[in-house]
Amino acid sequence: MRAGEELFPEIRKAVRALCEDFPATYWRELDRDRAYPRAFVDALTKAGFLSALIPEEYGGSGLALSAAATILEEVQAAGGNGAACHAQMYMMGTLLRHGNAAQKQKYLPGITSGETRLQAFGVTEPTSGTDTLSIATTAKRDGDSYVVNGQKIWTSRAEHSDLMLLLARTTPRDQVKKRSECLSVFLVDMREAAGKGLSIRPVRTMMNHATTEIFIEDLRVPAENLIGEEGQGFRYILSGMNAERILIAAECVGDAKWFIGKASAYARERKVFGRPIGQNQGVQFPIARAYAQMRAAELMVREAASRYERGEDCGEEANLAKLLAADASWAAADMCVQTHGGFGFAEEYDIERKFRETRLYQVAPVSTNLILSYLSEHVLGLPRSY
Ligand SMILES: Cc1cc2nc3c(=O)[nH]c(=O)nc-3n(C[C@H](O)[C@H](O)[C@H](O)COP(=O)(O)OP(=O)(O)OC[C@H]3O[C@@H](n4cnc5c(N)ncnc54)[C@H](O)[C@@H]3O)c2cc1C
Repeated sequence: MRAGEELFPEIRKAVRALCEDFPATYWRELDRDRAYPRAFVDALTKAGFLSALIPEEYGGSGLALSAAATILEEVQAAGGNGAACHAQMYMMGTLLRHGNAAQKQKYLPGITSGETRLQAFGVTEPTSGTDTLSIATTAKRDGDSYVVNGQKIWTSRAEHSDLMLLLARTTPRDQVKKRSECLSVFLVDMREAAGKGLSIRPVRTMMNHATTEIFIEDLRVPAENLIGEEGQGFRYILSGMNAERILIAAECVGDAKWFIGKASAYARERKVFGRPIGQNQGVQFPIARAYAQMRAAELMVREAASRYERGEDCGEEANLAKLLAADASWAAADMCVQTHGGFGFAEEYDIERKFRETRLYQVAPVSTNLILSYLSEHVLGLPRSY
């Protein structure tokens, strides 16, 4: 057993076995074509991994967050990219925690089986960016429905999702005492909405991420698709963010493990000046440092997940885990390129692909600066900076 891998050995083994069917060539070709890893997502769904967090009463396996984190970590450590479907695992949390009984009964069993995909999250907008409370998309009540108008950006996986969780303004900013009480969350059935006010435009990015821009014009969303209470949407979205941060941090730990494994193997084998390059401390120390960073991040992911599972406040730990793990994966990526010299840039080594993929986590789903602001204000008691 590798260090730090004593948790969930059976899950690790099963995910590794599944990932063996999707070797580096599979990911490389998809990356080249910017194509969606449908066969991989289907296999992960069929094996029940994407419904790990759904309670048993809705057909899921009702596992703890740390089990789900282990699944995603292993996907990344095997060289894959869970970003294609990780949201299917955690986005249903908003529905589970804040949806009514009828909504849960209607949607959760389908999400468990994979028949219904809920993995599009429409929060970010071109003009508001990180300042979520400034979003301009509106939802106005009209009889039995809401009429939605606006635009979203970076709505990932929208073309591969049946449902979208959409955050929209239900009260103008100047009509509420608390800024946070003017947004609401809707479950939009994109199968019904397509061509009736909702259009999706793919956005090509530096990595294969299936992200999109969404234009919404006079889209009618049935009022029964409002999640929880009108005006409480921001609170509902926030309540899911800790789980999302912990799971993505686990993916970063998996990425770091992949880079470290790849660099160590190469440094042992590659001979220059008649000896392995890894014999030089200038080569081995950066690998050792990346390993130390990864192990520290791994501990913080575990700490955050266990606080979450005990129902304790884990805002600080979830943010720390995301920050440390994203930094660890990015440092490991850079180290891995350097260890490989010129070959680090060659497509067939997969390092440049993983390097591009892991870079995202410095920015999304929350950027490093915003985590530092959170820690400064909420943990260290420093004045709010924005
Ligand atoms: C590939 C990809 C996939 C994504 N998927 C989704 C998705 O599925 N759904 C969704 O809703 N969003 C998604 N996002 C959006 C992502 O969450 C945002 O990009 C991120 O929150 C940053 O917002 P922004 O890009 O508008 O940057 P901005 O808010 O414009 O910020 C730009 C830079 O300024 C910094 N900055 C801004 N304000 C401050 C401040 N007060 N103090 C210090 N620094 C500051 C930021 O840290 C950042 O580095 C995705 C983004 C990408 C790139």
